[in-house]
Amino acid sequence: MADHGFSFSQLNDPQRDAVKTLGGPLLILAGAGTGKTRTVTARIANMVREGIAPEKVLAVTFTNKAASEMRERIEGMVAGGKGADMTVCTFHSLCVRVLRQSIDRLGYKPKFAIYTASEQTGLVRRLINKYAGKDENLEPGLAISLISQAKNKGIPVSDDADSLVSEVYRAYEEEKRLLNAVDFDDLLVLAEKVLREHKDVREYWSERFSHVTVDEFQDTNKLQMDVLQQIVAHPYNICVVGDDDQSIYGWRGAEIANILNFERFFPNPKVVKLEENYRSTTPILHTANSSIKHNANRREKKLWSRMLGDDKIRLIAMPGDFEEAEFIADEIFEIAAVQKRPYEDFAVLFRTNAQSRSVEQSMRERKIPYRVIGGQSFFDRREVKDVLAYLSVMVHAEDDINLLRIINSPARGISKTTIDLAISDSREARCTVWEMMQESMFTDQLGSRARNAVETFIALVKQYSEEFQAVGVKYADVAERFLEEIGFEDFLERQCKNTEEFDKRREGIHSLIEDLRRHQKEPKKRKHGLRGFLDDMALNGDRDDDDITKQKGVCLITLHAAKGLEFPDVYLVGLEQGILPHKRSLVEGTLDEERRLFYVGVTRAMKRLTMSFCSTRKKWNELHACEPSVFLAETDKKYIEEVTLEQVHGVPLGDSDSEDEFANMLAMLEGIEGVDDD
Ligand code: ATP
Ligand code: MG
Repeated sequence: MADHGFSFSQLNDPQRDAVKTLGGPLLILAGAGTGKTRTVTARIANMVREGIAPEKVLAVTFTNKAASEMRERIEGMVAGGKGADMTVCTFHSLCVRVLRQSIDRLGYKPKFAIYTASEQTGLVRRLINKYAGKDENLEPGLAISLISQAKNKGIPVSDDADSLVSEVYRAYEEEKRLLNAVDFDDLLVLAEKVLREHKDVREYWSERFSHVTVDEFQDTNKLQMDVLQQIVAHPYNICVVGDDDQSIYGWRGAEIANILNFERFFPNPKVVKLEENYRSTTPILHTANSSIKHNANRREKKLWSRMLGDDKIRLIAMPGDFEEAEFIADEIFEIAAVQKRPYEDFAVLFRTNAQSRSVEQSMRERKIPYRVIGGQSFFDRREVKDVLAYLSVMVHAEDDINLLRIINSPARGISKTTIDLAISDSREARCTVWEMMQESMFTDQLGSRARNAVETFIALVKQYSEEFQAVGVKYADVAERFLEEIGFEDFLERQCKNTEEFDKRREGIHSLIEDLRRHQKEPKKRKHGLRGFLDDMALNGDRDDDDITKQKGVCLITLHAAKGLEFPDVYLVGLEQGILPHKRSLVEGTLDEERRLFYVGVTRAMKRLTMSFCSTRKKWNELHACEPSVFLAETDKKYIEEVTLEQVHGVPLGDSDSEDEFANMLAMLEGIEGVDDD
């Protein structure tokens, strides 16, 4: 087939209608699993078939994971490698592109640094310490989320302009400005600003992209909508796809209003509704529908499926989280072996990161391969951050945070006193530490050894900055040589408790260099050099992992990260009050959003869904009693089979008689064991 995977016969009527509508605003509104993503990817393939230049096609998603999935799907559907010429990216990386080209219009220097979440935390923590009064306290995480909300909504951070958080906010903005650095939210704020204020910039981008598509549109916030409005010009060839029932980023300012009032932003849109679900069986859909209908303010939808399915949904009462994890690992192990199924068929979905630990433990003991998505990221590992900090300094030494991170590690004779002096002098002179270190008014204060150390360091950074930024350079090779020159591995080894730890950390560095090498091999990426690599890292690292498809094994994933994905066999765990709904939501009155998370979880399952709750949970080595989630009580039980752990151990995995007998025998044996134990 010339068009690879794309043909109209694989679409139903409304899907085909959407795929053929290429001009003007289009809103595709649909429930989970109705083929929204399939439809927009086919629609993009159709653009190319209709002769629209691939370079003019832009598809925006909310997460990196979604972007890479979509890119893959499109490339599979478009003939002749044309898929590679399209732009498929997140809002944040779109904004980086805009700013790399035009941030100087806003008075910044063109080479700006993007602060990752951890760099942001470091800076905010320092400012809180600086400004907090004796009995004042402010959690950096809370400050950051307040600042982020304020920026995204364009409102002051607090009603009181003299409050600690207001002061920290001001200082935070000033400091970033001084260092020519931006955070994630700034990317959107500044891109919107430069587009709005500069007609030529705006026209460049709306000309560059004649056809724009946004998946998971329900998660866009006001700022993202503003960016879209700047980029999409008359005749508004914009297609957005979304499901108001899956809007789960309210805490990041996502506005369901964007979807509910789409026509206010782009006039006279064509609206296509998709209602046939191709992913899940009737029991799964019925259960999902019966829960989500308890939400107010939603666009009513009738989701249905042709797949009746034989399996009911199991709801298992577990004695504790340990038993929950053990049960799941045992069952997956057995099903995978007996039914010869790949581990990638299975997913365990949870509300909070902490819940993955016990499941991981049980998987590990059985040597079941697994991947954790949405948990602690690779990029949070210390050695990886160190190397990234070095590389950042090489392209932008004015970046104080990264410079200070590496200035004396490995140790090179620049003492804490010298560093503190450089910091305070630079603040006084309103310049960066890097600039200050090169001033004689600073070095004149130092003893000869300290001065030597500083000068050697400056020479090192200058030498390698040049090498890294030379035209056509193989930056992965330079990075390797650089790490060797500074003795990074020895430094790493000295920090590790044993060889095992050292191996693991060294492995982390090697895979980072591999990433760099891959980047260097791709012509499209290579042209942005090391700077481009670091941008990608900053955008990927603190958000979610984008290589879910590359990793193998059972998927352990948070509900937030699971959106848009599907698995034949799903375990939805920890359905307890305080977990789902999360305890914060009970205070903040965001129960509807938690219900949507529950809905997202249920609708990830294709064939088989197992839900569970625990009556106790271990925390800090103490047992706590738990209550089943309110969402279970309000959900219709027509297709739900409620069982205890003891009962489920006696239930066969399949329907065949022989398995039945086997299970009965097992149950009998267990009964006998139980007597023995007493
Ligand atoms: P979500 O709301 O979770 O993002 P979605 O609406 O984007 O879901 P897709 O992921 O595009 O849905 O599709 C769900 C499943 O249904 C996929 O496996 C897809 O291949 C399949 N599917 C979609 N449309 C059709 C169709 N017309 N015929 C057969 N299968 C389809
Ligand atoms: Mg989708």
